[in-house]
Amino acid sequence: MASQLMKTDGAGTLRAGDVGRDVVLAGWVARRRDHGGVIFLDLRDASGFAQVVVNPEDAPASEEDLRGLRLEYCLQVEGLVRPRPEGTVNTDLPTGAVEVVAKTLTVLSPSDPLPFQLDERADVEEAKRLEYRYLDMRRSRMAENLRARSQAIKAMRRVMDDEGFLEVETPTLIASTPEGARDMLVPSRLRKGQFYALPQSPQLFKQLLMIGGVERYYQIAKCYRDEDFRADRQVEFAQLDFEGAFWGQDDVLATLELISSAVVEELRGEAIDLPIRRLTYQDAMARFGTDKPDLRFGMEITDLGSAFASTEFQAFAGVLEAGGSIRGINGGELGLARSGLDALVARAQELGAKGLVWMVVEDGGTVRSPVAKFLSDTEQAAVVEKLGAGPGDTLLIVADRDRTVSKVLGELRLEIGQPEGSDDLAFAFIVDFPVFEVGEHGGLVPAHHPFTAPADVDDLVAHPETALSRSYDLVLNGSELGSGSVRIHDPGTQAKVFEVMGISDEDAEARFGWFLEALRYGTPPHAGFAIGIDRMVSILQGEPNIREIIPFPKTQTGADPLTGSPSRVTEDQLFELGIDVRPEVRKAWAEEGDDPLA
Ligand code: ASP
Repeated sequence: MASQLMKTDGAGTLRAGDVGRDVVLAGWVARRRDHGGVIFLDLRDASGFAQVVVNPEDAPASEEDLRGLRLEYCLQVEGLVRPRPEGTVNTDLPTGAVEVVAKTLTVLSPSDPLPFQLDERADVEEAKRLEYRYLDMRRSRMAENLRARSQAIKAMRRVMDDEGFLEVETPTLIASTPEGARDMLVPSRLRKGQFYALPQSPQLFKQLLMIGGVERYYQIAKCYRDEDFRADRQVEFAQLDFEGAFWGQDDVLATLELISSAVVEELRGEAIDLPIRRLTYQDAMARFGTDKPDLRFGMEITDLGSAFASTEFQAFAGVLEAGGSIRGINGGELGLARSGLDALVARAQELGAKGLVWMVVEDGGTVRSPVAKFLSDTEQAAVVEKLGAGPGDTLLIVADRDRTVSKVLGELRLEIGQPEGSDDLAFAFIVDFPVFEVGEHGGLVPAHHPFTAPADVDDLVAHPETALSRSYDLVLNGSELGSGSVRIHDPGTQAKVFEVMGISDEDAEARFGWFLEALRYGTPPHAGFAIGIDRMVSILQGEPNIREIIPFPKTQTGADPLTGSPSRVTEDQLFELGIDVRPEVRKAWAEEGDDPLA
């Protein structure tokens, strides 16, 4: 580290080898204990902690100063490093063998009483932590997460650099591009009534860079999506965005393997299993009920249709006739009482299934189940056999529309099987996505942005509901880390895809005429990807949400409790922008008693 004028050493760097040295430390008072007139301080700085012993007899500071020395005061300490007396060595702390006897002690900045304890164990409400993020990050959890984020980005940059990628920045004030979410808009003062959009991703710019001959591009890109809040989303987040020309899917996936290996190696000192397992979208849905399967455990969903092909059990026969499916999982030895099994049925119903059939395998291979009397011995034996079940295992079966079965069993599988506290890592590539997925309200919605190449454009036009695209996702432990695709590189295909996606010719021309034109100048085939950096680091750090990885995140409702954004602006600012706030919004302000014009 470059030298610092105010200190000779980082507090956390002192070791037995430093004994006998005169050092100057600077940092914050993390703990203070008074022992018979002698004061022990834990001095914390970015490198860790050191124990400082202040003996008033050596008079390093006035008694009054010492008495007033409170937590989080910012201090400079000059002193001698000595071994800790026998019996007081702390082997949990890297600096636990030594202490610094203070010769002089200077208060650089006092601290007000703290809004919350910075003690690691103190359970502080998140809103408070965000309001005082600058204090929260003095705690080791946040400090470690910030460090991990920086290391992850460093590892990413190293790979991209080694692989010959050029780091290029793209603008953040752009024209609106469809990526599936709502744009965040910025009004223009010079062109009143017109708006920039903040990028949902640098998608079209990276494609322009390919057309521009850059061949390999990357960027740590800030992306903005005005989405309704979900637990693990932020309006503003960071991606490692990259693209390669003369590239296909395998080039992208090979690069993702390099990046994932480097980041895991950097943060955990471990190698990942290579090659990363590949699953088709269809396979993932059938076997795990989701396109982001958690592969740290098995408990695969198994099709049981053939076991019930000629069943007399009406509920099952009806579903098969209607084209639905009967599938099940072996939940293992759950040992649930009747109430527990009933709770699983209720949970399945909450998730959208009409019902859930449970079976508990008994010694001898027979099953105990509310529907056992409707099923033949052969059917029961076939289920046990297909699910690889043994005595004591609980089997869960759902018969419904295919989609519902996937959703319900996929969710139950996670709830029952997900390992708690495991630090295993299971990466996966999901490939061969359909162009469209069935949306929440039943209609078809594009699974990826409209610049993604279809596997076969004629098939897309003829059978949009089943056509496949050349897109792929990277999944880690049941979370999507990012997605990408082979891109369309000819204007004709692009126009057809816009049409199938319901973007009219005029609309496409008006919004992306410039891009369609660019595609006409010798566009190389190209492909790329974007990894959500916050998500990746949060999983590797074992954090429950990405806010723990973002230095200054927004709350789940999009607000920043620290700086108070979003906030109103002055009437003058609005006037300059040629913008007025709609009457109904003003009315709501007035009702809250704070319309500046009222
Ligand atoms: N732009 C896409 C996204 O942000 C990623 C990609 O296709 O490269 O999800």
